Amino acid sequence: MRFDIITVLPALLESPFAHSILQRAQNKGIAEIVVHSLRDYASNKQKSVDDYPYGGGSGMVMSIEPFAKCIELLKSQREYDDVIFMSPDGVTFNQTAANELSGLKNIMVLCGHYKGIDQRIRDLYVTREISIGDYVLSGGELPAAVIVDAIIRLIPGVLNDETSALSDSFQGELLDAPVYTRPADWKGNKVPDVLLSGHEAKINEWRHEQALLRTQARRPDLLED
Ligand code: SAH
Repeated sequence: MRFDIITVLPALLESPFAHSILQRAQNKGIAEIVVHSLRDYASNKQKSVDDYPYGGGSGMVMSIEPFAKCIELLKSQREYDDVIFMSPDGVTFNQTAANELSGLKNIMVLCGHYKGIDQRIRDLYVTREISIGDYVLSGGELPAAVIVDAIIRLIPGVLNDETSALSDSFQGELLDAPVYTRPADWKGNKVPDVLLSGHEAKINEWRHEQALLRTQARRPDLLED
């Protein structure tokens, strides 16, 4: 699976993909993440990628030309299943969307900045608009890193223990059960006995029960369907 991310701040996307699971996915050749600097596609001398908004008002707007050039170049090289614009007014991202997107081959992700991007970029090129929640960030880079992480860890072969993604919260209708590791007793705070019993069926039963209790307490909405 390949991601092409277009941004005015490529440095913001260096670290999130350079460690742990995402790094491993790339080293294994399962995922490829290519970050494109929007400024490389600016044709004016100052390499500016934004301009004043028509009609006045505060905030700069990202111009159509650099985005169009970069998107068209990429599209001439391969077919994209989706061109995603990260935007607070998009559809709120969730695990179902992550699962759906993890089955695709080539995804382009556009990161906005300032007041946003010229509406014509959205009209002409974007096939999907995604928000990571009802709040406004300064740019689309952190949201892009969030969705790329959520998607890549679902591709078969990325996680060492395949089943661990399946028991995660939101993968089914239940939140994940509490987890513990050594020591079994930390200053009198003990790990539940059942987890030390070695009895697999009982452990599974306990985990299911705990997941259910946690879901009822924290997210009863998940049990409604
Ligand atoms: N004026 C815009 C917000 C611009 S914020 C509005 O009110 O809708 C600048 C950029 O940050 C956006 O273009 C988008 O790419 C990104 N961004 C900010 N918040 C986001 C969120 N919750 N989800 C996804 N992208 C977001």
